[in-house]
Order: sequence, then structure tokens, then C-alpha cells
Amino acid sequence: GATIGILGGGQLGRMLALAAARLGFDCHVYCPEPDSPAFRVAARHTVGAYDDAEALATFASSVDVVTYEFENVPAAAAEVIAACRPLYPDARALATTQDRVAEKIFLSFGAGVEVAPFAAIDGEADIETAIGVTGLPAILKTRRFGYDGKGQAKVGTLDELREALERFGGDCVLEGLISFESELSAIVVRGADGLAEVYDIGENRHENHILSETIVPAPLAAETLAAARALGLAIAEKLGYVGTLGVEMFLVRDQGEERLLVNELAPRVHNSGHWTEDAAVTSQFENHIRAVAGWPLGAVTRTAPVRMLNLIGDAAADPLAILADPSARLHLYGKREIRAGRKMGHVNYLDR
Ligand code: ATP
Ligand code: MG
Ligand code: MG
Repeated sequence: GATIGILGGGQLGRMLALAAARLGFDCHVYCPEPDSPAFRVAARHTVGAYDDAEALATFASSVDVVTYEFENVPAAAAEVIAACRPLYPDARALATTQDRVAEKIFLSFGAGVEVAPFAAIDGEADIETAIGVTGLPAILKTRRFGYDGKGQAKVGTLDELREALERFGGDCVLEGLISFESELSAIVVRGADGLAEVYDIGENRHENHILSETIVPAPLAAETLAAARALGLAIAEKLGYVGTLGVEMFLVRDQGEERLLVNELAPRVHNSGHWTEDAAVTSQFENHIRAVAGWPLGAVTRTAPVRMLNLIGDAAADPLAILADPSARLHLYGKREIRAGRKMGHVNYLDR
């Protein structure tokens, strides 16, 4: 059988490796941290740095195709790998989605979808122009490496903006603050043959900037859900994307008129798609594996209403209490220690 290489050893890599194993694939996981969650379920693993070209080349030549579980794969690492084996999603998807400015330019000019007003901002000289575009309050975000709300700050005044920009060391984007009614996500999967599917749209709720729960189907009008699905599919098509893609959206209501703005893209399986493990015919993980392996996609049909609850920090301390509810489908990531704010697992509650 074929071997699939996965860059990154966190919970997403772990769930990808589990889905791949079920289809008879071996996975070889590459990650800098020893004892990573994905290592313990994969056939092979390598502890290596993302700037170690030699180790990356050895890893790539040991597999048939390479994918990744996080968007911060350095461009140079992607190049080393792509020179050796097919990389899915490809280098363009990676470059577009790992830089918030490149992503917003692609979304607004390449895909014709609406995003929050934004301006690249690197230093003092860019501040006036940027505020002219976004107004205040606004959100300052680092262009790269942010997640779970890290690397972003809401700024209400010029001084707050200066302070945050200095703290982040430049290379940021300033975004207008969107007053949204809800946050939605589309989980899209597109095969190497260009056939694409989108799962039912979920509504996302955050706590302390970390995804807390996803409810599917999102309790919204059918037209809104259809528009969100179409948006997700259009973006995957424009990117010529192969694999599972997460599209985070804001639903805005303006004098009764609804609009969908795209917040960000994730070129990988997405936390808001974890419900698909227990409430869809084919999970986002299996479909990602099928797509990168060049296999046909499985049905994305939802089989039950579902609520996905993230287990963050202490919430994972007592798994048996969670399992007292027989409808709870528990997933633990096998992380060695519980830390505040750390994603330890999730639960899918079926039929609600
Ligand atoms: P993730 O963990 O999803 O990758 P992230 O750190 O990349 O998160 P974003 O998704 O950009 O950050 O923002 C995190 C959350 O902050 C959003 O889900 C939303 O609740 C809020 N937010 C981000 N940008 C804006 C905005 N322009 N206006 C209003 N709220 C925003
Ligand atoms: Mg993000
Ligand atoms: Mg986000």
C-alpha cells in the first residue's frame, strides 16, 4: 500500500493518520516535537526541524505523497518536498493562506468575495493610511503564525495601535472590526479530479478567542446556508485546491440585508469540522486523505444533528463524567499534560 507523509504531529495529524490507517495507508509523520500526538498512532515518525532540508528530503522520499496539518510550513520546506513528491494542498494554497494579506488579496480580488476592510501595516509610516481604511476600533493581527487569537489585539486608539504594532514587531495587517451576528464555517473538500463537496454549514462559538463549540446545522435560513456553501465551493475552485479546506465566515446583518464576509482560510482539516467524525457519512479527515491520495471522495451527507464541544484545559480532566452521557462521542488527543487554553480533545453530542 501507499504511504502518506504528514507534516505536523498535533491532533489534526493524529486524526488524519487514524483515518488513513482505516483505508490501509501507512502514515509517516514529520514534526519537531518528540512525543507528538500523531506519532503514537502513525506507522513511522521522524523528529526533525522544518528548516532541515536534508531530513525533509529523506522524509519525502520515504512516502508517496505529502500533506500537512498546519499552514505555517515554511516555503523553503514546501519547496524541498515538492521537488521530491507531490504536495497537497499545493505550494500556492500554502503561500496564499499562511499570510493574512496574501489571503485577503486572493479572496477579494481573486475570488471576488467580501472580507473585512484591511490594510498591511509594517511600521509607523503605514498607520495613518491603514486607519483611513479600517477606522477605529480595529483589530491588529500578525500576518503569519497567529492561531487561537494569539498574535492579535483589538485597538481602540492610535496609542493602542502603536503599542500593539511595536509588541508584534511589524509585519501586521489592520482589520476593520466587524459587528457580526454569528460566525459560520464551511468545510469543503475537493479531489484531484476537481470534484468538490461541502459539508453542512456549522455555527461556531468562541471563548477567549478559542473555538468552543460548533453546532450543525447552523440555526439559520436555508438561503443563508446555501450562500455559505456556494462561497466555500467557489473559493476551493478558484484556488485549484486539493484536500479539505476550512472557510471561516462572519454573518453580518445590515438594515435587514444579510452578507457573508470571509474571515480566514485554513488549508487543512479544521476544528469546526470535527463533528464529521461521528455525524457524517465520510469524515473531513478521511476525505482529506482520499483527496491527497487521488482517491474518489466519500459522501459528505450529515447523518444527525450534532454539537461539537472542544475540551480545553481542565475540561478533559474527567473523561468518565463526559461518558456518563451515552450520546457523547469522546475524542482525546493523548497529550501528556493538561495546560490552560490547550486543546485536549473534543466531544460530539449527537441528536442535538
Ligand atoms: P484560529 O484559531 O481560528 O486560526 P486566529 O488566531 O487565526 O484563529 P482569527 O480567526 O482571525 O484568528 O480571529 C479569531 C476570532 O476573533 C474570530 O473567530 C472572531 O471571533 C474574532 N475576529 C477576528 N477578526 C475579526 C474582525 N475583523 N472583526 C470582528 N471580530 C473578529
Ligand atoms: Mg487562523
Ligand atoms: Mg480563525
